[in-house]
Amino acid sequence: MPSSTHALPARTRAAVAAGSLASRISRILGRGHGAVIGGRVTLALDNHALTRLVGARPVTVVTGTNGKSTTTRLVAEAISADRLAVANRGANMPPGLIEAAARRDAAELVFEVDELYVPDVVRRTKASTLVLLNITRDQLDRISEIRRIAELWRSMLSEIAWPITVVANADDPLVVWAVGDHMPVVWVAAGYRWRDDAALCPRCSRVRPMSEDGGFTCECGLNRPDATWRVDGELLIDPTGASHRVNLQLPGEFNKSNAAIAIAVSSLKHVDITQALHRLTAVTDVSGRYVTRVVHGRTVRLFLAKNPASWSESLHLVASEPGRAAILLINARVADGMDTSWLWDVPFEDLQGRSIAVTGDRRVDMALRLHVGGVAHTMAPTLREAIDAVPAGDVELLATYTAFHEALKELEVDW
Ligand SMILES: [Zn+2]
Repeated sequence: MPSSTHALPARTRAAVAAGSLASRISRILGRGHGAVIGGRVTLALDNHALTRLVGARPVTVVTGTNGKSTTTRLVAEAISADRLAVANRGANMPPGLIEAAARRDAAELVFEVDELYVPDVVRRTKASTLVLLNITRDQLDRISEIRRIAELWRSMLSEIAWPITVVANADDPLVVWAVGDHMPVVWVAAGYRWRDDAALCPRCSRVRPMSEDGGFTCECGLNRPDATWRVDGELLIDPTGASHRVNLQLPGEFNKSNAAIAIAVSSLKHVDITQALHRLTAVTDVSGRYVTRVVHGRTVRLFLAKNPASWSESLHLVASEPGRAAILLINARVADGMDTSWLWDVPFEDLQGRSIAVTGDRRVDMALRLHVGGVAHTMAPTLREAIDAVPAGDVELLATYTAFHEALKELEVDW
């Protein structure tokens, strides 16, 4: 049950008050939501603030390289079909969780957490549910070792001293290896289009073939587990074998998978599946992702694509919509990862035959990649010029991390 702030120690209450003042000042100064600065102030004044603010409320931690923000939002929505669940917005290290944890009206908390901070946050919040989505390469110059993340999760789960239910993607071999023998676990067939980061078995390093349907087996015994939840076209199949229609406004197969995970979590918490799915239908965008804006007769829809796996998913979606134009917005700053060699791993050839414009700091790198892939394109110095370079109609805008945030600003999207 939500508790009032009076149940908190005076030190925590003072730390939260100081933090929310810092957040307000940051917002007034136009420096974003202010959640991170506010959280830093709160934690500096009371290092135990996160634990104290969470109290005895159930916490679900959501992590993985791709789909964290969207899945976190969907989990919170699904639980909220029954009781209020509050999620953090975007900032996914401990300071970014304080604002949501301070919401005393929330019956449950759902935290998107950076892959490397999961053990810390799980311990601080005594999380009861952990969602593991996927592990792929991201920011090549900084996090080159995906195995390190899998090992971190695996050792955390083997040491944890209280019951924690894991809801995990059965299709990602690294996730399956990280979960190991942990119980209880709910496996969801959440898909794994990007195979290049899991060519070797995480347990024995043998080259391990993956079948077309996403299955995998290895001589060492690391096999794809049987999933109790799966997506079949427009249907979600639950553990009893019953099917439920999934109508999302969020685009793409990957969001159906994210919804399947959200429903698996809310169902564990005894939320009615039909009511939870109904809540998900109303979600149109998540922190600027999938927002559409009409600019000079073009209906531009925004996608954040930050690494080879998410580019691959987004390109698959663009390729499945005949004739749709696309704008590729490429930066390579610190938050994007400064190494753009991943451009050569992504199947941009799928864009052949469409109207394509390229912009961003590293538009020349992108243009060379498209040229080699035989994809005709226009290179434009600014986003506005890129929009004008494609024909009127529906346009998908795919952008790396900092480029995405520049596009939100440029198109005046309030996220
Ligand atoms: Zn093996």
